[in-house]
Amino acid sequence: MDYRGRQRRVTQVLGARRLQALLVTHLPNVRYLCGFTGSACVLLVANGRFTLFTDGRYREQARAEVQGARVIVPKSPILDAAARAIADSRVKTVGLESEHMSVAAEAQVARTLRSRARLRPTQGLVEEYRMVKEPAEVDRIRTAVRLASGLFDKAVAAIRPGVPEQAVAAELEYAARQAGADGMAFETIVAAGPRSALPHGRASAQPIPRRGFVVLDFGVILAGYCSDMTRTVYVGKPTAEVRRLYQAVRDAQQAAIEAVRPGRKVSEVDGAARSVLRRARLARYFMHSTGHGVGLEIHEPPRIARGQQAVLRPGMVITIEPGVYVPGYGGVRIEDMVVVTTASCEVLTPTTKELLAV
Ligand code: ZN
Ligand code: ZN
Repeated sequence: MDYRGRQRRVTQVLGARRLQALLVTHLPNVRYLCGFTGSACVLLVANGRFTLFTDGRYREQARAEVQGARVIVPKSPILDAAARAIADSRVKTVGLESEHMSVAAEAQVARTLRSRARLRPTQGLVEEYRMVKEPAEVDRIRTAVRLASGLFDKAVAAIRPGVPEQAVAAELEYAARQAGADGMAFETIVAAGPRSALPHGRASAQPIPRRGFVVLDFGVILAGYCSDMTRTVYVGKPTAEVRRLYQAVRDAQQAAIEAVRPGRKVSEVDGAARSVLRRARLARYFMHSTGHGVGLEIHEPPRIARGQQAVLRPGMVITIEPGVYVPGYGGVRIEDMVVVTTASCEVLTPTTKELLAV
């Protein structure tokens, strides 16, 4: 991981935004900038220097992990110590990660600073750089995607009428741990029958019905990086209407994948999926965005959605996951992860998208 390069870039962007310092409080951003994976810390970037403040529990871990930053284990609360360091460094403007700092924490910093520096809210400053992955990051993501893909068959094997959705999720999550995952990237979704029409149907105690769609949406964390995939299978013998619905989502997903290339606006990728569903008269059943970035976090920029202006660049890793959800009947979603290449994109998820009947 190129921590020095990341630190250099963030220093440059601070200069461009007329900020002399930045207080990094979002843990994935701290990890991205200096490698520290502990949960109690702030990272201060001031005058081009990086200082990590953490508490006594993390002394050894910080020594082992942190790259390119000084580590301080203060006796006082870490936020107070960081604010005092800002005051001592004589910087005049300090950026705060406004999306990742509580009102109470900001007040605490302001109190310690006593107007010796001005606090300025920032948004997505480090996230902006995290969108484009380094080759080493893509490698980690690829490994996480492969591991998760290998769990799909185990989940499908557990799907039978009468089995609770939770039992399917349990099989899948047990297999994930056995395969070496650090954990799940989010709460596993197993949504069967009419519940498959809930885009975020967390696995419930509901038994799987004798016929209907089952949406499986799951991901793992491996070496810090997340994966995310969805497949929809059918319990029973698929009717013509079931096949039509499934094929429409599959075509929409394929159209969006084919729209991915550097220079494209993310809204155009979203539009590609939506227009396929519009032709199939299913567009009104597709009420979420087409995808999102994935990396150290399961949901990170860019959002692949209507009205979003972000432009795709090589190295971005995003999901493509259109779906249709017919209330009271059921839903279908198909989700892959792709990495933007210099010419188009590479689909990372190797799992088949044929309609599977179980
Ligand atoms: Zn997902
Ligand atoms: Zn997703």
